[in-house]
Amino acid sequence: MLDLASLTELLAQPKKIVITTHHKPDGDAMGSSLGLYHYLVQLGHHAKVIAPTDYPDFLAWMPGNEEVIIYTENLQQSATLIAEADLIFCLDFNALGRINEMGELVRQSSAYKVMIDHHLDPEDFDDYRHWDIRACATAQLVYDFIADVLNKKELVSKDVATCLYTGILTDSASFRLPNTTSAVHRIAADLIDAGAVNWRIHELIYNSSSENRLRFLGHCLANRLEILPEFNTAIIWVTKADLDQYDSNTGDTEGIVNYALSIGSIKLAAFIVDRKDKVKLSLRSKGEFPANDICKRYFEGGGHRNAAGGQSADTLEGTINKFKSILPEYKKLLIQ
Ligand code: 5GP
Ligand code: MN
Repeated sequence: MLDLASLTELLAQPKKIVITTHHKPDGDAMGSSLGLYHYLVQLGHHAKVIAPTDYPDFLAWMPGNEEVIIYTENLQQSATLIAEADLIFCLDFNALGRINEMGELVRQSSAYKVMIDHHLDPEDFDDYRHWDIRACATAQLVYDFIADVLNKKELVSKDVATCLYTGILTDSASFRLPNTTSAVHRIAADLIDAGAVNWRIHELIYNSSSENRLRFLGHCLANRLEILPEFNTAIIWVTKADLDQYDSNTGDTEGIVNYALSIGSIKLAAFIVDRKDKVKLSLRSKGEFPANDICKRYFEGGGHRNAAGGQSADTLEGTINKFKSILPEYKKLLIQ
């Protein structure tokens, strides 16, 4: 274990530091990682962000992006950095399985491990933890960690602020989810004061689609949306052929599930997509409905109450049917 005094002392001298995050990184994963990266580099640390897999193009504009190492494309370099690190920051995940084969390398490394995260049920692999499930984003916790825990608010530079703002924006679904408290808005204001150009970040994240991506969304809404009124539930499903037809890349399906949730009566929305090796589910819910409970119990996944994910080794059709067959069990919560 590492107490705060020891961690502060460690960070007082330049160290070899790896920052990593969950596979298929989203805006919060990359935003919190690069935000922390810019903070540590200012202090003279030798820091590297290693992403377990690639991530969508709409995140590739963030400052520091060109310095990110993608594990699957740089196996040897990543393994060496992890083995030789003094400290490893694990951001936006709390179980080593979420970083695929990198998990074993991190476990075996003699580096101190620091977890900064907001997911339920953390595994016990870390030496120091800044963890709070009430946080709307890991980027919010990174801001707390820098400003309140380490007392270094003055080191929140324009680059740090830009990346952390992106994490908060994307994980709070544009300041819409119930965990978007007044404290979150105050942090967002601090980040804007520190140099984050909020309107530009919104534009880069949400208004930078390709034509194909917009047409793919149209196809999903016109031909792949099924409403189950008796359960206040909506499903959007996507076949392998759909992905091919619209040349869908990593991240192109991100956010489509939210359109299903935008119908007033809908409490639970599922996006079910037939990927190369498995069927992947993304669930979103309104209010108290525990989307993560369904993912955890039935789809080898988890997540937050209102945003969760999982997978299935079954066919697309089998997975859709399994999802539908589970709904009666949750009917009470869905129709209240
Ligand atoms: P998404 O639907 O965007 O893929 O994921 C939404 C949230 O669900 C993520 O922030 C993550 O917390 C969680 N999640 C997604 N997939 C998985 C999974 O396979 N396992 C676990 N434990 N959580 C997941
Ligand atoms: Mn997150």
